[in-house]
Amino acid sequence: MNNTYHRAKKSLGQNFLVDQNICRRIVHSARIKEDSRVLEIGPGQGALTRHLLETGCDLTVVEKDRDLAERLENDHPELTVLQADALRFSWEDFGSKGACTIVGNLPYNIGSKLIWDIVARTPNLKRAVFMVQHEVALRLTAEQGTKAFGGLTVWVRNHAETRYLFKVPPTVFRPQPKVDSAVVEFLPLPAGKRPENPDALSKLIRLLFQKRRKQLSTILKKQWTEPVREWFDREGVAPSARPETLSPEQFERLSRCI
Ligand code: SAM
Repeated sequence: MNNTYHRAKKSLGQNFLVDQNICRRIVHSARIKEDSRVLEIGPGQGALTRHLLETGCDLTVVEKDRDLAERLENDHPELTVLQADALRFSWEDFGSKGACTIVGNLPYNIGSKLIWDIVARTPNLKRAVFMVQHEVALRLTAEQGTKAFGGLTVWVRNHAETRYLFKVPPTVFRPQPKVDSAVVEFLPLPAGKRPENPDALSKLIRLLFQKRRKQLSTILKKQWTEPVREWFDREGVAPSARPETLSPEQFERLSRCI
């Protein structure tokens, strides 16, 4: 990782103002209705928040910065402001209160981690729409066998369908970051299509993508039991194949044998 990337990541975790048209497009993409329960992550100075409030939805925001959270509370008394770290948020609690939509121009340094948790742990999630670093958007929507296809792709796609909505260039931010951004939509999969054992899937993803240049039979040497060998036969996957050639669904099925 070079210095430019480090600087960009750090600064995008702080406050950047984004063009109003982009905010409108993000809110429009989330298809929010008047009776929707919505959670916004990292509202900052409220660029997106204003447009979300215009929909008349029941809006809660999670902002880590105390000053920004206080300012939002003063400016928008109708808003529920939680001054908290989204990384420690209870997605289970929020989702258990009924159907919800989650949106945000995510702090880029924690975007992948947040998405990993949100898609897996939020019950009753109808849709999520996030602006993330462009590179992360490509990983979230990558096809199997491509360079961008990785652990994040496999995990998220076992929980939700993802769609790359649009690219956001640095020119629409003030000040301008050094990286491109993109907006991605997440539509949760029905319960029957989700991982049977999420822990086993998460462990397998970590194991296989730690050594993505190696052949599957080499990485899985210690786990090479009869059920695993049969799995390769059944799925028609060569033991010499590399991890990124498996589909997200194949990862899930393989995790059940290991
Ligand atoms: N939504 C605003 C916009 O579009 O202009 C600001 C987005 S800015 C990229 C990220 C925001 O997330 C900042 O306001 C920052 O304080 C907040 N933030 C950073 N880390 C956070 C965390 N762990 N939990 C909640 N908010 C966080």
